[in-house]
Amino acid sequence: KLTLDGLTKKFDDNVVVDNLNLSIEEGEFVSLLGPSGCGKSTTLRMISGFIQPNQGEISIDGQNITKLPPNKRDTSLVFQNYALFPHMTIADNVGYGLKMRKVNKQEIEQRVNDMLKMVRLDHLKDRFPGQLSGGQQQRVALARALVVNPSVLLLDEPLSNLDAKLRDEMRSEILNLQLKFNLTCIFVTHDQEEALVLSDKVVVMDSGHIRQIGTPREIFDSPNSHFTADFVGVRN
Ligand code: ATP
Ligand code: MG
Repeated sequence: KLTLDGLTKKFDDNVVVDNLNLSIEEGEFVSLLGPSGCGKSTTLRMISGFIQPNQGEISIDGQNITKLPPNKRDTSLVFQNYALFPHMTIADNVGYGLKMRKVNKQEIEQRVNDMLKMVRLDHLKDRFPGQLSGGQQQRVALARALVVNPSVLLLDEPLSNLDAKLRDEMRSEILNLQLKFNLTCIFVTHDQEEALVLSDKVVVMDSGHIRQIGTPREIFDSPNSHFTADFVGVRN
């Protein structure tokens, strides 16, 4: 279970995440919806440990992880725009988190191979990211996140750069992996339909605040504010 308790982030005087309280059960798939700049990526970066909150606490199963570095937490982040290391092979990209966690070389190779097979990219393991298509890079990013066996998987608009067909494929792939590993997922998307299809729960954010939390049905059928109604009613 992942708990955010009063999570707050300021950049200079600008409060971009404001006293966020959220609790997500193990194995739950939660979509985070909200307009550009409302604090979605900042929230995921705090949960994964790449930036520190000014206030508040993050815990997994009751253990406070707020101060732990990214490689000491049970979380993985798939970045908006993948962020693969361009100078490293696909295999080294996927193995990076394991190396950071001081896993031995032989085990890294084994786990990287298994993971690349799972996303059907084992034939490309010696290439560099620039030599892969967007969809392939996206699968590498997913493999890199999953290879460390996280209990919490954070996905920052992982499908936004893919064409419709590939996006459908990747959706199923993410759902399969989520079920297989009983992952707790937070999925950031601009696509309301995607949120509806994928999630157990939808969190609607606005200017660093949570506006509404509910099942997709609750959010889409009974929005509690004009903001939510407008936001989920308008396709973009
Ligand atoms: P998008 O949908 O466009 O990705 P978002 O909801 O992910 O938006 P964030 O990236 O979390 O938004 O940014 C929230 C706010 O914080 C924005 O106003 C952004 O300009 C600001 N911000 C983010 N990172 C920094 C930073 N390192 N320094 C200063 N301001 C920042
Ligand atoms: Mg973002």
